[in-house]
Amino acid sequence: MDFTIKNALIATKDEYSTTDVHLVNENIAAISPQLEVVGTVINGENKLLLPGFVNAHTHSSEMWQRGITSMYPLELWLTELYDFTPLDCEKVYLSALGTAVETLLSGGTSVVDHLVLIPGQELETISSAVRAYKEVGIRAFVAPLIQDVSLSAGIPSGDKQQTHEPYFRSTEATLELIEEAVRLFHKPEEGISILVAPTGMQLCSDALFKGCIELSEKYNLCRHSHLLETRAQEKLSQEQYGCTAVEHLKHIGYLDYRTSLAHCVHLTDSDIAILAETKSTVVHNPLSNLRLGSGIAPILKYRQAGVNVTFGCDGSSSNDSQDLLEAIKIGSILHNVTDVDYRHWITPRESVTMASLGGARGLNMADKLGSLDVGKKADLVLYDLKNLSLLPRTDPIGLLVLGRPINVVDSVWVNGKQIVADGKVTTIDVDKLREELFNQSQWYTKRQSESVKAVETHYRYVMGI
Ligand SMILES: [Zn+2]
Repeated sequence: MDFTIKNALIATKDEYSTTDVHLVNENIAAISPQLEVVGTVINGENKLLLPGFVNAHTHSSEMWQRGITSMYPLELWLTELYDFTPLDCEKVYLSALGTAVETLLSGGTSVVDHLVLIPGQELETISSAVRAYKEVGIRAFVAPLIQDVSLSAGIPSGDKQQTHEPYFRSTEATLELIEEAVRLFHKPEEGISILVAPTGMQLCSDALFKGCIELSEKYNLCRHSHLLETRAQEKLSQEQYGCTAVEHLKHIGYLDYRTSLAHCVHLTDSDIAILAETKSTVVHNPLSNLRLGSGIAPILKYRQAGVNVTFGCDGSSSNDSQDLLEAIKIGSILHNVTDVDYRHWITPRESVTMASLGGARGLNMADKLGSLDVGKKADLVLYDLKNLSLLPRTDPIGLLVLGRPINVVDSVWVNGKQIVADGKVTTIDVDKLREELFNQSQWYTKRQSESVKAVETHYRYVMGI
């Protein structure tokens, strides 16, 4: 179906103009005032049209544990999380629906789901998330989360001899699984892409990284990992490689223009130069970094070095929401406290570009997504500028980024298909989703993680607490 959006406000170089936009098939076909009407007419009056943002790092199934996971740093938090991760595909499906809806209603048209796999039901897990994303119609980049050493190995040893249980699945079997997932689900033209996604150096062998590089080359897949999120990982890199994780990943050939790296909190200046040189993308997850006490990623330095940066919500148990506008706001102004030179600070228009084009670039889609240009895919969001939270009238993008926009998304198109209209998702029954989420959960406040008890003493010792 085609659309003519009439009289929408769009951002020009540093102003705004009112214009019409044609969406024909999957694409933006024309942008010009007073276009002839084709297809369905959308009244864009007093509405702001922007390219869709990318929620460039999340873990959808964490939704089942939002608001409950203890106040712990990453390593202990993850240990607790894994003790309570849902082990059924129906829950995976529902939390993927929830993640998609919250992303759409906060300006996102694409989501990168670093998906936690249920042991023994790995392909079913992926299939459940893919089904949810297809039903909603959001553009999805499913990055099955893989590792090949057990969780306790992610904590540095220090001067203690540590032994770890072997991981339950071999490196080879893991890579075969991912290749099978690519064969079954990687259909970028249908809006579903599979990424190779070794979780990070802390839990992955070089053999796993190298296997992922091979798959990425063979099928032209993007690569997605966590990188140097915590001080513990910084220590671990030195223990394991005798150099920084960035130096090591460069050495084995993992970093390139298709590689996006979540967090990047603890990098050296020469690491930053490596990210620039390899054209890797940094995914900034400010709320998760605050919640887990990981630190403040040096985002202003990345920008000055020419590193592409975009935003993610991260999973819902370290955020604990999927509000992309909130992540963009905090991820922009947080850095003002790190640099007295206010000329380096991120402006609202720059934030919008980082969230849209920056996200597209990290997924090797900058030629197709991320800006309002004729010929690009119609992944667009129309914001209601008469919403109370965007009044009185000032600078629309300034207020969208710096304010606290509530229910401001009026319409969303993905691949030319309208999937939000009048502020409501039209492709699935959100009331039914709410009912399911309600029925499959309960209110509770306390739980005991046996695994945390087992590792906490060592963690405190090695981190000098
Ligand atoms: Zn993550």
